[in-house]
Amino acid sequence: MLINDFRRKVHLASVLGLAISASALLAQAETPEWCRALPRPEYKALQQVPIADSWFEVYQVAPGVFAIYEPHQSEEVISYLIVGGKRAVLFDTGMGISDIKKVTAELTQLPIVVLNSHTHNDHVGDNWQFETIYGMDTGFTRENARGSRADAQAEIAADQICGQLPKGFDPKTYVTKPWKITAYTHDGDRIDLGGRSLEVIATPGHTPDAICLLDRANGLLFTGDTYYPATIWLYRPETDFQAYDASIRRLAALAPQIKTVLGAHNIPVAQPSVLPRLVVAFEAVRAGKVHATAAAPGQVIYKVDDFSFRMRAKESKP
Ligand SMILES: [Zn+2]
Repeated sequence: MLINDFRRKVHLASVLGLAISASALLAQAETPEWCRALPRPEYKALQQVPIADSWFEVYQVAPGVFAIYEPHQSEEVISYLIVGGKRAVLFDTGMGISDIKKVTAELTQLPIVVLNSHTHNDHVGDNWQFETIYGMDTGFTRENARGSRADAQAEIAADQICGQLPKGFDPKTYVTKPWKITAYTHDGDRIDLGGRSLEVIATPGHTPDAICLLDRANGLLFTGDTYYPATIWLYRPETDFQAYDASIRRLAALAPQIKTVLGAHNIPVAQPSVLPRLVVAFEAVRAGKVHATAAAPGQVIYKVDDFSFRMRAKESKP
């Protein structure tokens, strides 16, 4: 809504003597489109775990597995705490807008190893707070570990926030803080948590350092931004379509062994059958069989069944 429209509404309301406050109108005017889809109905079926910080919502999605969701920012990013008998893995650290370390301390007393599904700003925001961080051995990872400001600042524009930023949060100083990679991890590595083992699967494409984690014994596949149940972003310069295609084929081949797919945005659980269907959908786009809709300048969206992909306009031609 334009500000003039807003003033006109306030004026009209006062003329008509309606019991409608300016702040209520302003709130209505500022509710971004994405925010109206919340709360997402899929969460009703999940087991919520109470925590102190209202910036986050936590759901136990499998035994010893907690989805840490940030519903007040448009990424609706989801980090995962995966708890074993001796230690826990935190797969992504979220936006860094509030304090995910405090949340993890409410969920486990065990030592925590951080791994990132990839190093885009919305997945590494609280990395700086943790002592043990395994990183992929790529230049992209090392560059992002130096921190950045522009992407973080774009995340807190008025239309990106739904509800309140945390008390004490200072938008002016909000950046992705640098962090230290304490060890490199590689495709095929196994991380022993004590009674629970996670396998690192390199899935480059969305970024060069994208990984998935496989908990084979429990049939859980954590897919980061390689798959989540919303528009998949494949338009940034670091995205490689050919690598992405190969990665999703590799995941699709695992589908028969998996019970639950856990992605990094919007909704934390999906059926494994999405993985082979994702391959078919992406193939149709690459084969030029899908009509593109204009999105932001230089970007288009392809919709195939219940999948959609945001891609670069020029490279998305067959
Ligand atoms: Zn990403």
